[in-house]
Amino acid sequence: MRIRMSMAAVASFLMLACAALLNFLALAGLARPDGVRWWTLVTVTVLVAVLVLIRSGWSLRLPDPALTQFQIRYALASNAVGYVILGEARGITPVILSLILMFGIFGMSIRQMTINMLFALLSFGAAIAVVFWLGLAGNPWVEMAYAVMVFLVLVGSTFIAIRMQHIRRRLTEQKNALTVALEQIGHLATHDELTGLINRRRMTELMEAERQRCERGRRPLALALLDLDHFKLVNDRHGHAAGDEVLRAFAACVQGVLRSTDVLARWGGEEFILMLYDTDARGAAHLLERVRTSVEAMEVTVGARTLSVTVSAGLALGEPGEAVERTLERADQALYPAKEKGRKQVVYDGEAREETARTVVGH
Ligand code: GH3
Ligand code: MG
Ligand code: MG
Repeated sequence: MRIRMSMAAVASFLMLACAALLNFLALAGLARPDGVRWWTLVTVTVLVAVLVLIRSGWSLRLPDPALTQFQIRYALASNAVGYVILGEARGITPVILSLILMFGIFGMSIRQMTINMLFALLSFGAAIAVVFWLGLAGNPWVEMAYAVMVFLVLVGSTFIAIRMQHIRRRLTEQKNALTVALEQIGHLATHDELTGLINRRRMTELMEAERQRCERGRRPLALALLDLDHFKLVNDRHGHAAGDEVLRAFAACVQGVLRSTDVLARWGGEEFILMLYDTDARGAAHLLERVRTSVEAMEVTVGARTLSVTVSAGLALGEPGEAVERTLERADQALYPAKEKGRKQVVYDGEAREETARTVVGH
């Protein structure tokens, strides 16, 4: 609304300045006073009507709420009328014509510009004919020069408008390409290429945000560190590519078990972090056990071979005021007893610290 109103205000100011100029010329005896009076009356009435229609919001129901096309066509028509009534001062109309067309150059489609050019051509064609018909023409050479000037202004504006359109289209394309590129860069910066999971950088941000939310809501923040068992052996026996395939399958398998609010991230190598939303130790341990058994049951086909892996997990619940790094450290420490006790198990740091190091969910 603000932009629409300011554009309409500038256009109105220019139109009023032209009206003042015409009246001055009429006073000076160069233009027809009765014609100029009528012209001024109609122009001011239309200007006020346009401003009221825009300001009241009524024009919002139209495809062109700024009424730009109407204002331009109206200005062209009244400029053509000015050409008739201005007498020997009609030489100023091509200058005003170029000013009007300048308003259209930026926001108009080629189609709108073409319509306006044809409209201007017709209006001025009619105006020139009327000047000769009513015997208002002065020196025929000067009249011809004015007509040629009008024609040149129209052709020149059309050319500039088309160039402007091309530039605008190219800018739009470049902007779209940039948006896509930014999205891709954003994805690359936050995701792991191999598994498609979010990466360490993004997970660090998410964990910190979730820690603050949990602290405010007095809810526990459950973090688990998942580490594939004897993964080096998978690589050694079946090759690095097979290892990659297993990592991908592992990520997909775990995500299939999780709730939509839980977040799995690749922390590095064959280590993953699982952040569980609003879950206590028992709930987290149960979910991790489900993850563990699903991974154990998973079969990964690589070429002619079928591989399977197991996973161990260390679980810790953040304590009030505790930094995320510290909670993770405790989850990592819980992973040691899980590995020592024969792997493929889930150990909760709370119990690990009691040196019982027994698994929460036995198997
Ligand atoms: P543990 O049960 O004690 O965890 O034994 P491990 O063999 O899993 O542990 P270790 O840390 O010795 O080995 C991890 C292996 O994971 C070594 C490394 O080559 C492999 N690895 C890390 N990142 C990738 C990867 O992106 N692709 C593949 N194929 N292997 C990876
Ligand atoms: Mg490891
Ligand atoms: Mg491992």
